[in-house]
Amino acid sequence: MKIISDIQELRDHLRGQNRASFVPTMGNLHEGHLSLMRLARQHGDPVVASIFVNRMQFGPNEDFDSYPRTMQADIEKLEKEGVYILFAPTERDLYPQPQEYRVDPPQQLGDILEGEFRPGFFKGVCTVVLKLFSCVQPKVAVFGKKDYQQLMIIRRMAKQFALPVEIIPGETIRAEDGLALSSRNGYLSTEERAEAPELQKVLKEVRERVLQLKDRTSQSISEIEKVAVASLAGRGWQPDYIAIRQQSDLAPASNEQLQAGEPLVILTAAKLGKTRLIDNLEI
Ligand code: AMP
Repeated sequence: MKIISDIQELRDHLRGQNRASFVPTMGNLHEGHLSLMRLARQHGDPVVASIFVNRMQFGPNEDFDSYPRTMQADIEKLEKEGVYILFAPTERDLYPQPQEYRVDPPQQLGDILEGEFRPGFFKGVCTVVLKLFSCVQPKVAVFGKKDYQQLMIIRRMAKQFALPVEIIPGETIRAEDGLALSSRNGYLSTEERAEAPELQKVLKEVRERVLQLKDRTSQSISEIEKVAVASLAGRGWQPDYIAIRQQSDLAPASNEQLQAGEPLVILTAAKLGKTRLIDNLEI
C-alpha cells in the first residue's frame, strides 16, 4: 500500500485510473470502516482510503484534540484489506491556505438533528469531502449508514454539484451486544460500555411502538419520541434527540404518513458521561 500525504503525488499515482473507489475516514479504524473498504472493492478498483481528522467539522468544545489517532495500527488493517493507496494528508497538505470557500448545505438538512447540536458540522464535512473528492477523483465513494444524515447530505451535494461520483451506502456494523462500532466507543468506561447498547434497544422499542401505531392512533409520533427520551434520561443518559423522520428527506413524520406506509427512520444522539453516541434504525 502506498501512503501519500501530498495532493500532487496522489494525483500522479492515480493518473489514468478512472474506476477508483474511495472511502474517507478519520482513522482509528474498526470493523465498520473495514466493511466499507470491502464494499468499495466490489464497486471499483483501485481502492483508495483516506485518514484525516478534519478540524473544520469539530466545534470549539468538541473532541478534536483527544480524537484517537492510531495511524500505525490503521495502516496494518488497510494493508490486510488490500487497499491500494492511503491518502493521509496533514492539515498543511489539505489546507495550505485557510479554506475560505466552503460548502454550505441547505438549512432544512444541515441545521437539523446533528446540525442543530453541532453547529457548522455539516459545513465542515461537506467542505472536506468535496475537497477529498477533488483530490482523489473517484468513480464511487462509500459512506456508512451509521452517519445517516451525513450520507444523505453528501448524496445530495454530489447530485447538486453534478459530481462524477456515485455514493454507495454501507450498513452499520455492530458489536455482538448491538452497540454500533464507533471510534468514540473507546472513550467509554467499563460501566458506560455495559450501558451503551441501551441506545439501540431504545430505538428498537420506538420502532415497535411506531409499528403498533398503524393499528391504534391513540399515541402520536411526538409522544413516542418524548417517552423514549425520558427513558434514556432516566437511566442517566443526556439525550440530544430521538427523532422519527421520513427516510426521503429527514422531515418530521406524521401519523398520516405512517399510515400511508412512508418509509421512516429513527435517529438518535445521546451522551453517556462525556461520550456522545449516535445511532439510527430504519422502519
Ligand atoms: P469516521 O471515521 O467516523 O469519519 O467514519 C468514516 C466512515 O465510516 C463514515 O462513512 C462512517 O459512516 C463509517 N462508519 C463509522 N462507523 C461505522 C459502522 N459501525 N459501520 C459502518 N460504517 C461505519
